[in-house]
This record gives sequence, C-alpha cells and structure tokens, in this order.
Amino acid sequence: MERPPDFNNKSLLMQTEKGFKSEVINIVKLTAQEKLFQIRILGSCEREKFTFLPGQFVMLELPGCGEVPISISSSPSNREFIGLCVRKAGKVTGMLHRLEPGAMVGIRGPLGTHFPMQKMVGRNILLIAGGLGIAPLRSPIYWVNEHRSEYKDITILYGVKEPGQILFDYQFEEWRKIYDLNLLTIVQNPDENWKGKVGLITELFEDISIDPEDTFAIVCGPPVMFKFICAHLADIGIPRQRMFVSLERRMHCGMGKCCRCNVGSTFTCLDGPVFDYWTVMNLKEAI
Ligand SMILES: Cc1cc2nc3c(=O)[nH]c(=O)nc-3n(C[C@H](O)[C@H](O)[C@H](O)COP(=O)(O)OP(=O)(O)OC[C@H]3O[C@@H](n4cnc5c(N)ncnc54)[C@H](O)[C@@H]3O)c2cc1C
Repeated sequence: MERPPDFNNKSLLMQTEKGFKSEVINIVKLTAQEKLFQIRILGSCEREKFTFLPGQFVMLELPGCGEVPISISSSPSNREFIGLCVRKAGKVTGMLHRLEPGAMVGIRGPLGTHFPMQKMVGRNILLIAGGLGIAPLRSPIYWVNEHRSEYKDITILYGVKEPGQILFDYQFEEWRKIYDLNLLTIVQNPDENWKGKVGLITELFEDISIDPEDTFAIVCGPPVMFKFICAHLADIGIPRQRMFVSLERRMHCGMGKCCRCNVGSTFTCLDGPVFDYWTVMNLKEAI
C-alpha cells in the first residue's frame, strides 16, 4: 500500500503560505465513509481571527496532496476547534481518512456566503437534510440552539438511503431535548433493526404542520433532493426567497479565479455556496 506523507512534519506545512496552519486534534469515525475531524488553528491570535457564519466552508489542505472545499460543521461560537465532516470520495479525502490525531493541515477561509440567520429571527425554521447534507446543517443547528429564544418552532427533517448512513445520531436526543426542536428521520432501504419511518424525505411532510406565512427553510443535500423538496415547499406556499440551499459544485481555488465552479456567470465559491432558491431557479444549469 502507498505510504501516506508524514503529516506530522510541520516543515511540510510551512510550504503553504495561503492559510492557517492547523492541527487535527481529534477524529471521530461516524460511518465507514464519513469521519468528523476536529481541527485546531495554531496560535491564539490566528484562532481569534477565524470567525465564520453557518453555511460557510473552508479549503482544507493536505500538504503535498491537495486542497478540498469542506463545509464547516461546528458551532460558530466554538473558538477551540473547527469541525469538518468528510466523506471519503477520492484522492484528497481518501488521504484525509488515513490521518491520525496530531497531523498538520492547512485551513483557508472561511469562504463563501452563509445562511441568513438574522433574517430568520422571530420565525419558524425548517432544516432539511439528505445524506451528507446534515454536515453543513449542524452549524445552523448549533446557531439556533445558542439563540433559541429568538426563533419560533425548529423542525429538522433528515433522510438517508440506509440506516447505516445516518450521521450524528448520537446527538439527536440532545438536539430534541435540550434544543427543544422536532427531529424526524426517514430511510429509503430499512434493515431488520430499523423501527422508524420508511420512504423518501418528502414523506415526512405528512407528519408536520408548516405555517407557510411564517417559515424559512434551509435545505442541504444532492440537487435532485432539494429540487423536489423546494417544489413541495413552494406548493404549500413558502416563497422561494425564503428557502436557502447550498450548491456544492466542484471547485478548485475558492476565490473566483479558476472558473471551475461557475453556474452560468455565477461563481458558486464567491456568490455561494448558499443561495436562495429563487436565485437558483434563475441560474442556468443550476438544477
Ligand atoms: C462548498 C462545498 C462544500 C463541501 N462540503 C463538503 C463536506 O462538508 N463534506 C464532504 O465530505 N464533502 C464536501 N464537499 C465535497 C468535497 O469537496 C469533495 O468530495 C472533494 O473535493 C473530493 O476531493 P477528492 O480529491 O477526495 O476527490 P477527487 O479524486 O477529486 O474526486 C473523486 C470523486 O468525487 C467527485 N467529486 C469531487 N468533488 C465533488 C463535489 N463537489 N460534488 C460532487 N462530487 C464531487 C469526483 O467527480 C469524483 O468522482 C463540498 C464541496 C463544496 C464545493
């Protein structure tokens, strides 16, 4: 098997002048494909400088291997570490999955647009995730918890293909009880141990009531999923300007220079990844 580079070697990281030098302080294996990396930016001044809002992402650099965009999956108020939930997809993410705590990485960011949490104050929020879409949703979930009195009802709908793909289920009870929110899950292909609901995520709408006049929606997941969800939300009367999605296009620089992530004339790295659905519908080739 190919030997991974020595990521504990700080001098390797010195080759990058682009971002914050950082250390992987903890790795939580979530499923066979996903791990949660807790990453600490080195230096207290640098850590203080790194502030972000829910929905933003970073470019995570593995020195000598490459850089990948990853949504921030922790609380904006957590100044100790940044949480990144990474699915093993290819070259860089595959190498990331081979890291051990103590490895040195680079963090460039925060980048991109964010969910407009201030605009949603005083309203109900519906957070909908398909599969890995729960990763970018964790940051707004932490946000609403920390500002709980500013929002009305919070509902999370989470759908996956198979029970083994559910991420962060160890936090669900805490989210339900402490955060006082309604969390419903559904799987497409149940196994013999699954006692919950079976079907597509849109079937969870049967179990909740939504006040379209007073609700904002945040939807994260594959485009095919948010297309159906947003169509349903529009049918029940939620304006498309009150639905927000994250467009995770392939991107390289994160700075609007490499032209890898364009949708028409829009750069998803600069103008997104978070867009309201009205804008997405008017972007050529977006969905
Ligand atoms: C704004 C943004 C936020 C993201 N957040 C997360 C996150 O929180 N967690 C996470 O695991 N991943 C996230 N991704 C996707 C992640 O960036 C890619 O999986 C990663 O770049 C793949 O790099 P690689 O070198 O491992 O794979 P490569 O060797 O480059 O490619 C392996 C396979 O993955 C596919 N692929 C690569 N990038 C993407 C993409 N953006 N969308 C769909 N397929 C892709 C390729 O087509 C190929 O089939 C995000 C992407 C964007 C743009």
